[in-house]
Amino acid sequence: MAENRFMVDHMLGRLGRWMRILGYDAEYVSTGCEDDKVIELAAKRDAILVTRDSMLARRFHGSFLVRSTDIDEQIREFTSSFPPDLTLMMTRCTQCNGLLEHRNKSDLKGRLETGTWNSYEEFLVCSSCGRIYWKGPHYRNIIKKLRGILKLDEDTL
Ligand SMILES: [Zn+2]
Repeated sequence: MAENRFMVDHMLGRLGRWMRILGYDAEYVSTGCEDDKVIELAAKRDAILVTRDSMLARRFHGSFLVRSTDIDEQIREFTSSFPPDLTLMMTRCTQCNGLLEHRNKSDLKGRLETGTWNSYEEFLVCSSCGRIYWKGPHYRNIIKKLRGILKLDEDTL
C-alpha cells in the first residue's frame, strides 16, 4: 500500500508537527489560503485533508475531520484512524516535512555546538532544509510524551 499523504489545515499546526515526528507525510496549508485553493492543492497532491473545519471537510471527499481542540486528544483521534508505523519515527523534518538522512558525524563538524557534537554519535539531516536532528533530551521527552498519549509500553516505543 502506498503511503498516505496528508495536508494539514493551518489551524492544526501542532498536530501537523506531531504527525511528522511520527513519520507521516504531512504538509501544511499556508495561512490565508482560500478554501477553494486548499481543496485544489489537496486534490492535486492526492492527499487526505486534515482539518477542524467541518464545512471544508464536507466539501472535500477524502478529508479527516479532527474534533478536539486538545493536542493530545487530536493525536489520539488521528492515530486511531491512521495507525502509526513506529519504524517511521524520526524520518521526517518537523519544520518542512523533508526526509531525514543519516549523515556521518565528521561531515557535521563546525555545524553543531561542540557539546552536542561530542555527546552524540548519530545525526540526521533534513534533505530539504538542512536542519540537523539527534536523539538528545528533547527527543527523549518526545518519546515519553508519545508513550503517554498512545498508551505504549517501553518495549513498543
Ligand atoms: Zn527540513
